[in-house]
Amino acid sequence: MHRLALALALTLASGVAVFAEPPQSSPRPLPRPMLVGVAPILMASLLPLPGTARPALRPVAPAAVEAAMALALASAAPARSPRPAPRPPRSVAPAALVPPSTTIASASALAPAQSPPAPRRGLAALFAPRPPKPARGSICGDPGIAGTEIAAIPVSVTGCGLVGGVAVTAVAGIPLSQPARVDCTTAKALKRWVEEGVIPAIGRRGGGLARLNVVASYDCRPRNNVAGARVSEHGAGHAIDVAGFTLADGSTLTVLRDWSAESKLMRAIHASACGPFGTVLGPKADVYHRDHFHVDTARYRSGPYCR
Ligand SMILES: [Zn+2]
Repeated sequence: MHRLALALALTLASGVAVFAEPPQSSPRPLPRPMLVGVAPILMASLLPLPGTARPALRPVAPAAVEAAMALALASAAPARSPRPAPRPPRSVAPAALVPPSTTIASASALAPAQSPPAPRRGLAALFAPRPPKPARGSICGDPGIAGTEIAAIPVSVTGCGLVGGVAVTAVAGIPLSQPARVDCTTAKALKRWVEEGVIPAIGRRGGGLARLNVVASYDCRPRNNVAGARVSEHGAGHAIDVAGFTLADGSTLTVLRDWSAESKLMRAIHASACGPFGTVLGPKADVYHRDHFHVDTARYRSGPYCR
C-alpha cells in the first residue's frame, strides 16, 4: 500500500515535471533534462527504490498543476510546428543590427530564432496538437484587433519613436486599407471608434462598412507637415488619419467629398471619434484636415479636443 502510494506520487510528480517546462519563448535554458517517456517513468516508479536517494517531492497545489498544464499546452506547440531548419547566419544577424535601445519589441520577435526548440517527448507531446495562435492573430490582448507587433522605432532627437508598436490590419472585423502603425492604446481607441461609432452610423447603407481608408499613421514629422512646428502625434504612434470609408457595394464615403454632401452622416462619424480619441480634427478644424479625419490619443486635462 505504501509503495503504491509512493509510486502514484512519483508518477504524478513526473507528470508535473513535464508540464512545468518553461515556455519556448523564454530566453532561459531548460533547467533540467527532459523526461524520456511515460513508460520508463511508470516502470521506474513502480520498482522498489534502492534506498531513498531521490529528492523530496515538493507539494504542488492543484491550481498550480492546472496552470502548468495550461502553460504546457500553450507552449508545447511551437516545437511541433513544421518550420524549416533554423538558418544560423540569419538567426544571429538581426540581433547584431538592432540598436541597443530597441530590445523590448525586437527581443520578443527574435526570441524564437535565438532559442531553438528543445525536443519534446513524453506527456508534453501528447498535449501539443495545435499551434498556440495563428500567424496573423490578434494583438494588444484584444481579439477584435488584428495585426502584427513591430520592431521598436528608437526615440530620436526629434522626439519621434514608437516602442511596443503594432501594425493594425483590421479592427472589429473591418480591414484597414493599409496597416496602421500605432501603439496599443491607439489601436484600442480605433477599434472602439469603428465598433461603437462608424459601423452603427453607416448601418446597412451600401451593405455596411467594408473598409477603413487609412492614409497615415506613424510618421516622424512636424504637425501638419509645417517645418518648425512641434512633432505631430503621428511621430509617437498615437495618431491615425482616415480619409474615408468603403462600403460593401464598393461605394465610398470620403471626408473631402462627403463632409458637405453627407453632412449628417459624416458629422456623426466625426463626433463618435470624440471620446475614444482625445483629439479629433476634421474639415471644420483647419484647411489641413479638409480631406481626412485626424484622430489621436493625446489626452488633455480639459477633455477631448474635437473640431
Ligand atoms: Zn493626422
